Amino acid sequence: MARQSYYDTPHWKALKAAALKRDRYQCTVPGCGATRATSRLTVDHIEPRPRGATEPTDKDVLHNLRTLCKTHDNQVMQNSDGRRRGGGSFTVGGCDEDGFPIDPNHPWAKRRQG
Ligand SMILES: [Zn+2]
Repeated sequence: MARQSYYDTPHWKALKAAALKRDRYQCTVPGCGATRATSRLTVDHIEPRPRGATEPTDKDVLHNLRTLCKTHDNQVMQNSDGRRRGGGSFTVGGCDEDGFPIDPNHPWAKRRQG
């Protein structure tokens, strides 16, 4: 019999449901706003949990979780060495109706605020 994954346990399923509810079923990246209607949402560990651990760890707590859309989950997906792509930072694509980038970290957005 295959070893059970933590992600198949009732512990994770309950935690994930609580995280989605806390985040109102929206991607938590500022400016993204993706919802269940527009993307497949996932729940990500902010501090990665130990790889391969099948029991709940001290990383498997609500305040270490965030809801991400598929796009942003892919942006911070861990490489095989456990490090995150792009240093764990996010970008938000697209522009608002004024033609400014939606991404709050984009230099244009900073110029508009200051
Ligand atoms: Zn997102």
